[in-house]
Amino acid sequence: MTSTKLLVGAYRKSATKSFSTSSASLGRHYKLLIVGSGSGGCATASKFSKKLGAGHVGIIEPKDDHYYQPWFTLVGGGIKKVEDSGKKMSEVIPKKADWLKTTAEAFDPKNCTVTTATGEEIKYDFLVMACGLQLNYNLIKGLPEGFDKDPMLCSNYDYEYVQKTWPAIQKFKGGNAIFTMPNTPVKCAGAPQKIMYLAEEAWQKSGVRDKSTVMYNTSLSVLFGVKKYAAGLHKVVDSRDIKINYQRNLIEVNTDKREAIFQKLDSPGETQTYKYDFMHITPPMSTPDPVRKSCLVDEAGYVDVDQGTLQHKKYPNIFAIGDCFNAPTSKTAAAAASQSGYLEKNLTAVMSGKPAYAKYDGYTSCPLITGREKCIMAEFNYDSLPLETFPIDQGKERRSMYHVKKDIIPIIYWNMMLKGYWNGPAAYRKLMHLGTDGPEKLKDSY
Ligand SMILES: Cc1cc2nc3c(=O)[nH]c(=O)nc-3n(C[C@H](O)[C@H](O)[C@H](O)COP(=O)(O)OP(=O)(O)OC[C@H]3O[C@@H](n4cnc5c(N)ncnc54)[C@H](O)[C@@H]3O)c2cc1C
Repeated sequence: MTSTKLLVGAYRKSATKSFSTSSASLGRHYKLLIVGSGSGGCATASKFSKKLGAGHVGIIEPKDDHYYQPWFTLVGGGIKKVEDSGKKMSEVIPKKADWLKTTAEAFDPKNCTVTTATGEEIKYDFLVMACGLQLNYNLIKGLPEGFDKDPMLCSNYDYEYVQKTWPAIQKFKGGNAIFTMPNTPVKCAGAPQKIMYLAEEAWQKSGVRDKSTVMYNTSLSVLFGVKKYAAGLHKVVDSRDIKINYQRNLIEVNTDKREAIFQKLDSPGETQTYKYDFMHITPPMSTPDPVRKSCLVDEAGYVDVDQGTLQHKKYPNIFAIGDCFNAPTSKTAAAAASQSGYLEKNLTAVMSGKPAYAKYDGYTSCPLITGREKCIMAEFNYDSLPLETFPIDQGKERRSMYHVKKDIIPIIYWNMMLKGYWNGPAAYRKLMHLGTDGPEKLKDSY
């Protein structure tokens, strides 16, 4: 049989299996199509394939493996192994959802179709965008090839480069250690700092700290966006003599001279060159190119949704979850978990002809590891106000919160969130604050 016949046969089989309003179409048609099977997409597929049944949910995802990216901080810090950070995509995509192993390349929301890299036009009744962020190392001159040339360049954001981080930390014999933060939104805005604290602690133990300058070169003008946690982090950097250079955006790496060139965002047109002996790079990020170039995004290139309902502002049968949309919360898996509960309510309502009603409050969490056995557990909302789960002051470094991050959250992620059973800790937060004024009442004092 020719490959074309095989393909058409597969389409026919799939079209009969899937929900279809167009019997003339040979292409696949899903009640719900999801773009991306990362944290948000997989959780959404699990929730809705249970509700809608087999054949009604399609999920477009090109990768073979699904990584629990928060693990990468622990890999870079020499605490966990990279092999344990992922599972086969086939193991995490729910059995009742159809996995379309390709990339979404073009979006036609007026005709409710997505065209894939294989040229197939897939129809949908409802679409959920869950494509995360793309890593744009190539926007920094000298990268990504610099990673192959210099063993002292590393980056926890990528599966390959994170494997360079711990060896580089161990090789460092003193000099300038630079940790960067780019001038775009990033996933887990705390991660560029977490690895700095782990590295600095390792250098104290190995005896090279006295011979080194540790610098955090950030494009931002604050250390962290939430005052309470920024205060905790300032105590850490002050006590450990870490230098913060604000408004410095990395634009070039010269591996031959071991120089890093930064744009001075506070003096337009000017740059500053730093010698480095170790550098951890957080790359600029954007939505993936096909999405960034589509009509689904705002001027900044993020999927344009209502920040409460997560429903697209122009196309009511489209929603978004996770890192790819434009609501002003910090982009984390914890945020995606919380969003998955609101998305479930709103999409279910819209599917049955009712308006979206549930309003996401921007909940996000960033476990700011400051060393082995130390963590400031930041949890906050759209207004940058703390929304803490535990009835203790989470703005302080705590061993208990380190173990929540290292040992408990990964179990919740694999066994509950990806299976559609975890919508974040809101219910536990209420329980833990029973009989007290609760974190909401404390907001004014932060
Ligand atoms: C180093 C590091 C540390 C972190 N630490 C934490 C932490 O401590 N706590 C926390 O909560 N979060 C943390 N995060 C952030 C967290 O991993 C992300 O916020 C989360 O994974 C976002 O989920 P998502 O579904 O939006 O995107 P992802 O999980 O990134 O998934 C997006 C998926 O979409 C697919 N895709 C992309 N383009 C297309 C396309 N065109 N067609 C089809 N599929 C496509 C991708 O292949 C990918 O599988 C960390 C991340 C990193 C890198």
